[in-house]
Amino acid sequence: MRSALLCIAALSLGTSSPAATFTITHFGTPANAQPAIDRAAEIWGSILVSDVPIKVAVSWFPLGASALGVTFPNGRKDFPGAPVASTWYASCLANSIAGTELNPGEDDINVYLNSGTNWYLGLDANTPAGQYDLVTVALHELGHGLGFVGLAKKVGSEGSFGQVLLSDFAPLITTYPWPEQEGLPGIFDRFLTSTASGPLVDLMNPSTALGSAFTSNQVYFNGTNAMSANGGQTARIYAPAAFALGSSCVHLNESTYPVGNPDELMTPFSSAGHANHWPGPIAIGVMRDIGWMVNGVGVPEQQVQSTWGLTLLPDGHLHPFGLETRERLTILDAQGRKLLEASGNGPIALARWSSGPCIALRMSTGEAQRFVLP
Ligand SMILES: [Zn+2]
Repeated sequence: MRSALLCIAALSLGTSSPAATFTITHFGTPANAQPAIDRAAEIWGSILVSDVPIKVAVSWFPLGASALGVTFPNGRKDFPGAPVASTWYASCLANSIAGTELNPGEDDINVYLNSGTNWYLGLDANTPAGQYDLVTVALHELGHGLGFVGLAKKVGSEGSFGQVLLSDFAPLITTYPWPEQEGLPGIFDRFLTSTASGPLVDLMNPSTALGSAFTSNQVYFNGTNAMSANGGQTARIYAPAAFALGSSCVHLNESTYPVGNPDELMTPFSSAGHANHWPGPIAIGVMRDIGWMVNGVGVPEQQVQSTWGLTLLPDGHLHPFGLETRERLTILDAQGRKLLEASGNGPIALARWSSGPCIALRMSTGEAQRFVLP
């Protein structure tokens, strides 16, 4: 016999919560690939708050053998209510902060997804070997468009902020006019620090000192929310010895947050046969640090009954109910750290869990439920 339902509340991703909405325009995206992109937008929409719809253009385009996606965020600076002056913000973040659409007629985010990739288009995170999970990659790319991005560049030995040109990415172009960056950093860049030289925005721009820092392998993000999501430590940023534009200094470090780590999503490389449909606590912390209001995790939700969830069996195991056997659950702690993944049919030994509040994400639908464990 099953004992009491542990579920105390539920939230529905992207539908009922006061969250961000996305309008997505497709250029060549096959119809059967669009639901995965919608799902990725719904996941971010459940986390971030904005009164202004986020306008995304998705281009399905051959990007060659190595790239899965490339994303260009539109930008605004010194807008009404801008927290930091002379600093670029992703335009959707600027719109959210200003509470009004600052860029009517322009897209906020231009995502290119590689039409030549062997994609897995399913929504259930059950990605077969050899295929790349489109929800995962779209979630990563949208993360850049929402502001997990910087304006670092290196030419020869000289590093700079705010000198990135659209021609650096030819033949790709954007659906909106490329802003002249005026040598100014992005808000993300203002949190970058290196072990040897301190905050990178305090170095001369441009300079060889900045170029050395960008390739020092010792670059960290020091925002307070990201740090608190990372055990009080600064989060290590990808800054390899060979600078790669669009990869260096705009991702979490691959080897620090490898496949299977709760913070793997915003690292520069994605693995085939693997899925991750949650940004992870550090990326959510970064979003808070750069100015996003964050919804969902940690916010009380309306109490509702649910047709699925977990029950606690007398033997101390949690048993999923209301799920198909092959459906997958991702269990997160209250800070959004992934504790484990489970399938819809098997009992879960409670000893593997930490006690207290946690969240179950139903991968096939994107629904989430909060639980309190004894
Ligand atoms: Zn990336």
